Amino acid sequence: MIQLKNVERSYKTGAGQTWVLRRIGLDIQPGEFITIMGPSGAGKSSLLNALALLDDQWAGEYWFKGEAVHDMKRKQRADIAKKHIGMVFQSYHLLDDLTVQENIDLPLSYKDIPKSERQSMVADTLDRFQIVAKKDLYPNQLSGGQQQLVGIARAVIHNPALLLADEPTGNLHSSQAKEIMELFKELNQQGTTIVQVTHSEVNASYGTRTLQMRDGWLVGDTSNPNLQFQG
Ligand code: ADP
Ligand code: ADP
Repeated sequence: MIQLKNVERSYKTGAGQTWVLRRIGLDIQPGEFITIMGPSGAGKSSLLNALALLDDQWAGEYWFKGEAVHDMKRKQRADIAKKHIGMVFQSYHLLDDLTVQENIDLPLSYKDIPKSERQSMVADTLDRFQIVAKKDLYPNQLSGGQQQLVGIARAVIHNPALLLADEPTGNLHSSQAKEIMELFKELNQQGTTIVQVTHSEVNASYGTRTLQMRDGWLVGDTSNPNLQFQG
């Protein structure tokens, strides 16, 4: 589904530049459930943002379903993201001036779906995430955990082929976190490819492959034991 070859990313800093992704090579097969782990600052969020096509300041090759993303214009990348990718942000990134149900509806608004169908998809999703009572509230009227649930609901409502999640359960109670991981498992069994970033061993145990990052390098991959002790 995705191939990264020699993907690199750096930020300009006062003195020079800081490398956050170093020669990343990665092959993601359809249907995989991948966990990315590693210490804070290792580049996990940067890798997820690149995969999500939110960040386009990387160098290297990115192939999505056989298409060369690295040769695409910004608009084409955005179209792929809207059509195929759902992203759960660590800091939620809900739109403050939209209600819960308007936030959740957003991914559907990019698709050609009849209004009545959209309404029933939103209603079903509100119900599934047990946030029906919050539907007309704004993000600043919600707790962190509630905002996180809305962010997850928004990421999965359009049934994306690729679901990316940055610490998706960081602000949830353990029982809610378990429900979310069970939901991810179900989506994965239905064919959704998932890449999650987490520090939680419990969350990681739902995945089928774990990558380790350190200082921008991919230093471990349970599907590639040769990478295991590098870095
Ligand atoms: P992780 O998700 O593993 O904690 P990140 O990908 O968030 O790591 O960050 C990797 C490194 O890049 C960190 O040192 C972080 O401070 C730095 N970084 C991330 N975003 C920026 C940015 N916009 N400008 C400068 N440095 C950044
Ligand atoms: P979160 O991980 O919840 O998104 P962060 O504080 O890690 O929040 O990062 C928020 C944003 O700031 C991200 O877009 C990240 O890339 C950027 N960022 C992270 N570290 C730095 C840094 N050292 N300098 C500038 N921007 C950064």
